[in-house]
Formats: sequence, C-alpha cells, structure tokens
Amino acid sequence: AGDTRGRRHDSQDPLKRFTDAKLQMRDIYKDLEECVVDLSKFYHAEGDDDSAHKFVPAKEIAEVARFKESILTIKEMFNRDKMKVVFFGRTSNGKSTVINSMLHSKVLPQGMGHTTACFLQVEGGSENERMLQIEGSDAKRPFAELHNLGHALSSGNSATSALGTNALVTVLYPKASSKLLQNDVVLVDSPGVDLSPEFDSWIDKHCLDADVFVLVCNSESTLTQAEKNFFLRVAKRLSRPNVFILNNRWDASSSEPEQQIEQVRNQHMQRFIHFLVDELKSCTALECKDRVFFISAREVLEHRLKDKGDVERAYEQDGYPRRAKEFTSFETSFERCISKSAIRTKFEAHDRRAREIISDMRDNLDAVTNLATREKQRLKLNFELKNREFLECRKAFADFEHRYREQQQRIRQEVHLKVSADFHEE
Ligand code: GDP
Repeated sequence: AGDTRGRRHDSQDPLKRFTDAKLQMRDIYKDLEECVVDLSKFYHAEGDDDSAHKFVPAKEIAEVARFKESILTIKEMFNRDKMKVVFFGRTSNGKSTVINSMLHSKVLPQGMGHTTACFLQVEGGSENERMLQIEGSDAKRPFAELHNLGHALSSGNSATSALGTNALVTVLYPKASSKLLQNDVVLVDSPGVDLSPEFDSWIDKHCLDADVFVLVCNSESTLTQAEKNFFLRVAKRLSRPNVFILNNRWDASSSEPEQQIEQVRNQHMQRFIHFLVDELKSCTALECKDRVFFISAREVLEHRLKDKGDVERAYEQDGYPRRAKEFTSFETSFERCISKSAIRTKFEAHDRRAREIISDMRDNLDAVTNLATREKQRLKLNFELKNREFLECRKAFADFEHRYREQQQRIRQEVHLKVSADFHEE
C-alpha cells in the first residue's frame, strides 16, 4: 500500500499533486533505505578472515551509518511537510471568516467582539479529532477552549495569559471535513497587524516556511501603512513572496450604482497593483489578475453552511453571484500557487539530497570494490566465491539506481513540469 511505482500521476487537482509528490518521495526513500540497510548489513557481516567485509575501511562503514541517519531524518522531515498559508490584515477585516469559508465550516471564532490574540494554525487531524494544542505543551485541550484562547490577552485568562501575540496554538480539525485539510494544507490566522505588532519575530517564527500569504483587506478603507509595512518586511526576508490580496466586505458596495462600483474597484486595483508589483516586487502587473480578488467572505461562508444544512438562510446582497465566482477563482489560483511553491521549496531539496546520497554511495561501493580487488590479488585466494555476496549487493544497488532515475524523471516531467505548464497556460 502507498507504493506509487507504476501509478499514473495525472491528477488535475493541484493540491493532489503535492500529496502525490510526497508519496513518490516516500517510495524513493524507502528503496534507498533498503539498499543502505543491505549494504550496512553486509559491511557488518560476520565472516572468515578473507570475507569481503574485512576489506571495508572504517571510513566507508561510518559513511553508510551516516546515510542511514540522513535517510531517517529526511523521511521524518517530508512526512511533516505541509503546504502553509498565513493570513494577515487588520483586526475585523475578516481573516477568520475567510479561513472558515475556505474550510466550509465555522472552525475559528469570528465576530466583531472577537480578536485573534495569537497565531492559530488549523491543520487536519484524524477522524472526529477536534483539539487544541498550545505551543510548549503536548497536552491536547478541548476544542471549546478556542474561544477563550483568542481572548487570552484581553481577559487575562490564567491558563493562557502567558501567551504573547507571537505564540502558536494548533487547532486540529478532522481531515475529512475539508479538501484543504485532507491534502496537507495548514492555514494560519494571525493577530491583527494593528495590534502591537512584533513584525520581525512574527516573520522569523511563522513566515519563513510559508508558501503563500493572504492579505485580507477591508474594501471600505484603503490599505494601511501597517499592512504595507508588514509585507515589505516579509519581502526583505523572502524574495518574491507569493501574496494574494482579498478585498473583503465587497458586499458593502452593492447598494452603489454599477458605474461607481467599477470606479472604486479600479481605484483599489491600481493601488494593489502598485503595491504588489512596484513595492513588494511579488508578481508582474499581468499576474495581478490572479492575485487580487473582490469578495465577501461572509456571503460565501453562509452559503456554504446553508449548502451543508447548517443554517437555513444565507446572508447575501445584490451582485452576490459575481463575488461568489470571484471567491472560487481565488481558491483555484491559490491552490495552484501553494502546490507549486510547496513542491518546489520542500521536495526539490529532498530530491537533491537523495541524488547526493546515491552518488556518495556509488563512490563508497567503488572504493570498496577497488580495495577488494587489490586484496584479492594479494591473497591469491579463490575469492570470487566469497565475493559473490558483495557483488549481489552491488547489483541490487545498480538496479535501484536505475529505478530511481526513472522515478526522478517521472517527478520532473509529471509533477514539476505539469505544475509549471498549468501556470503558463493562464
Ligand atoms: P478578523 O478579526 O480579521 O479575523 O475578522 P473576523 O473574521 O472575525 O470578522 C469580523 C466581522 O466581520 C465578523 O462579524 C464577520 O461576520 C464580519 N465579516 C467578515 N467578512 C465579511 C464580509 O465579507 N461582509 C460583511 N458584511 N461582513 C463580514
């Protein structure tokens, strides 16, 4: 189970491509580990004085032990790899509502009286698992405490008052409940950028491994300097960060005449383009149409809850269909962008490391083969017989190498190229 060899990777769903790439990576490292374990067993095998392992120098033996360790570390790493998106914006712009809309559920507390006082990271847990985990403690807390945690700073709640705005609370929510959680996307809500921001420590702790940033703005006001400053700092640390801008509460414009709505929209759009292209250098002017969206998270969330039968009536204003369509366009662009970025930043490094280990392993085998050949001549014994085990090991490795090269090509062609092709189709 879980073996992707021979499986066709023609998924059209960008999020699935990340999970496919993860499975392929798992197969590659499984094969690689088997080879290394075999070689290590062989190097350590008990035997006669003239058995092959006697020729293996300590350096080569130690190197194989290091390969084993590296492989274990990398396996743990990519099993933990996720696609990460962080949401920023001022308090009450609708960050929590956007996240809930994308999850089709009211996972995070939202509302005028509610402020997110620390970083809340939503990720998929097992079936029926609704829990919280506060950083620094392994204990799982009841989901119902989430509302209080959000208020931790203002209420001085004793259990959580030590949490600063930079603290992280992980919200484990059943994977099956949403496509995003199922496919290893984690969504991080942040404290409002207007709340005593500690930008640099926020960036160090929560943003360096983010694949995508979403700035949630309020369409009733303009982009504030605090919002801009935060992203300008991010762009100093990460070159060309993937930034989406959601101009939320666009339903508020619905009572205005059509012509005026377009005018306001264009005005906002010009400012956003200037910000993304000239100030942040995050994308080109052409790409902005896939980065800036005019939406109403509240309408989308309520309609999605209604579709699930959670509420009877959904809030909506004139012009809802266009805003709803724009929200799904945002989701499509977002999914492509996050999957492409995560495959590139997370798996390319693992792939490179696998190639390095293979090349080092080849050198290791060559060194031992040369030594064994020399020793064989020196001893002038009928060595071939004893040496057969080693030759078999070498052959198994050569087979693996061949299979790996094929796998690799598949990853390159079917995953990377496909993802980038999708982008260039746009
Ligand atoms: P946050 O502080 O940025 O997380 O903001 P919340 O998601 O808690 O939203 C603050 C309030 O704005 C809530 O009462 C939401 O229902 C409301 N809200 C969010 N999005 C919209 C929207 O698109 N339109 C309208 N009219 N209200 C919204």
